[in-house]
Amino acid sequence: MPTLVIPPANVTEASLVARVPLSAPETLLELVSWLVDGKLHAARCESNGHAEPIEHPDLSDVIGQETARRAMEIAAAGGHNALLIGPPGAGKTMLARRLPSILPSPSEEEILEATAIHSVAGMLAHGRALAERPFRAPHHSISTAGLVGGGSTPRPGEVSLAHHGVLFLDELLEFPRHALEAMRQPLEDGRVVVARAGATVGFPARFTLVGATNPCPCGHAGDVAHPCTCSAVDVQRYRSRLSGPLIDRIDVHVTLQGVALAKLGSREPGESSASVRARVERARSRQRLRYRRLGIRSNAEAGGRWLDLNGGIQPDARGLLATAAEKLGLSARAYHRVMRVSRTIADLDDSEVVGTAHVGEALRYRPSMAEGDARNGVAAVAKLGNT
Ligand SMILES: [Zn+2]
Repeated sequence: MPTLVIPPANVTEASLVARVPLSAPETLLELVSWLVDGKLHAARCESNGHAEPIEHPDLSDVIGQETARRAMEIAAAGGHNALLIGPPGAGKTMLARRLPSILPSPSEEEILEATAIHSVAGMLAHGRALAERPFRAPHHSISTAGLVGGGSTPRPGEVSLAHHGVLFLDELLEFPRHALEAMRQPLEDGRVVVARAGATVGFPARFTLVGATNPCPCGHAGDVAHPCTCSAVDVQRYRSRLSGPLIDRIDVHVTLQGVALAKLGSREPGESSASVRARVERARSRQRLRYRRLGIRSNAEAGGRWLDLNGGIQPDARGLLATAAEKLGLSARAYHRVMRVSRTIADLDDSEVVGTAHVGEALRYRPSMAEGDARNGVAAVAKLGNT
């Protein structure tokens, strides 16, 4: 069997994947003397190659905000991108930071892919593999190259460092527009291509995007406790920063209540991450089975037409979706977004078929930023339920 000769500093990292013996001489002289003796010394690897897992904050810390908690669960279960909209202090960041605690455990293959990207970026601590899915939260002052990759020697950007994990963009609308536009390709294809003179480098970038934003420049539109001081034009201009193509790639939109309203809710601690995660894992295993021949892993990646034919949508659920599409003026893309989210809600419900209750809930997570006040949407859906 051949032996792989590598520098000592790379032993831990190589031991993660090497299926052959490793040898790590300190110097070239040592290597030569080993070769002359006809015996390469086996490298010593002192750790199991994985970094210590991080203890994530728990979802049970979030009091109230049931709809937003549920939205996080749906995003985790179906691999959906999510947008959290709400006034300052409503807990958007708190929720986003708890998403990793309810994501399904990564496979060994996913860990190795994510580790390889961190290695290329020179960000692997002590050559150890990541212990879990990455969570990246770059500041909105980041450059486009920093976000999607680039540089004279092409380096992976945040979208790739978040591969198989979460990319959290707080204050989403403060990011430069061209940086957000540049995320369209990775959001669509799960990879990003960085072109430089003489070289084109592709990096994988399949991540769950979580954006958070205020509903308006002052932050209080729709907040009962604080009047919004923005003009309609200001609000319109602010919201238009979120382009249609980006909205189209975010399946789950949720509006958080202001703190005052949230406090009216339960003071009981919320459900723990472990218990939510168990539902998420079950929903994911249903999806793995469903998509095993399609080369995809989650509902978020499923084509709308495929789901329409094979997603187990019941006739009355399809009827509700069609009525909603007409009354709410949903585009074909929006229609398929609701269908994907409905499929995930049914998976969380351990149901092979998608019924009206699943579609009804999914309609609550439609975009509100681009279509006026979220509560108009909820009211319209409530009306639909009565007809
Ligand atoms: Zn305002």
